[in-house]
Amino acid sequence: LLEGKVALVTGSTSGIGLAIAKALAAEGAKLMINGFGDPAEIERECADLGALHDGADMSKADEIERMMRRFADELGGPDILINNAGIQHVSPVQDFPPEKWDAIMAINLSAVFHTTRLAVPGMKAKNWGRIINTASAHSLIASPDKSAYVAAKHGVAGFTKTVALETAQDGITVNCISPGYVWTPLVEKQIPDTMAARNLTREQVMNDVLLAAQPTKRFVTPEEVAALAVFLCRDEARSITGANLSVDGGWTAA
Ligand code: NAD
Repeated sequence: LLEGKVALVTGSTSGIGLAIAKALAAEGAKLMINGFGDPAEIERECADLGALHDGADMSKADEIERMMRRFADELGGPDILINNAGIQHVSPVQDFPPEKWDAIMAINLSAVFHTTRLAVPGMKAKNWGRIINTASAHSLIASPDKSAYVAAKHGVAGFTKTVALETAQDGITVNCISPGYVWTPLVEKQIPDTMAARNLTREQVMNDVLLAAQPTKRFVTPEEVAALAVFLCRDEARSITGANLSVDGGWTAA
């Protein structure tokens, strides 16, 4: 379905981004993946997906610009841009390390601006484009001790709506997907910090903090998020733009 399309998925060496990359490749899109990790593992993923990898650090505007130039030179485009790279840090605001705040703003929010501003002209020229931002339930509601993440994800939601309006007549759609808790390394890694911050056991954090908010009482899977991303890339989805689509097991309905 996506044969002839070229896609960039940021933060796609793990978790949700990797699942989206696999799903787009399965539909026939040509890919560039991005993100950190073990070089041998990344090479294996690239071979499996027939993808290129670029290790640009999404906290750095100049590295993003270099990656986008490389993408245009080697693949042309992108037609599909998935802004997915993201990090988390859990701490009460008075103890929140300013350098963590800056990193979360840079990777989770500013990188979305940089890739988008560099991708839109090519999409306009083709009169076709899909921009999908991995936001979060935290783009709609808050949880304690996640001030930077919640601020950045609310920013992504607002940015998504704005660019959707600017590109509405250019064959481009711009949406965000807002997952609840998805079982990925990002979630697994925040369990020890939440245990410390709230003086809880691992089981208490999983059941009483993470899944407490999710009425389905199960983690979302990366593949469920990826399936929605693929749908948004289809021509049938051309009227879905500026939307913030929840995949959160009913969390934000409560
Ligand atoms: P993950 O930790 O499994 O993957 C994050 C990816 O981003 C990795 O490929 C990593 O290498 C990459 N990355 C991190 N910092 C980077 C940087 N500076 N430059 C380039 N790449 C970088 O996390 P995930 O859970 O798959 O999260 C992906 C996205 O989904 C994030 O934006 C996250 O905020 C969002 N999200 C996750 C959940 C969840 O429950 N897991 C819920 C809602 C939203």
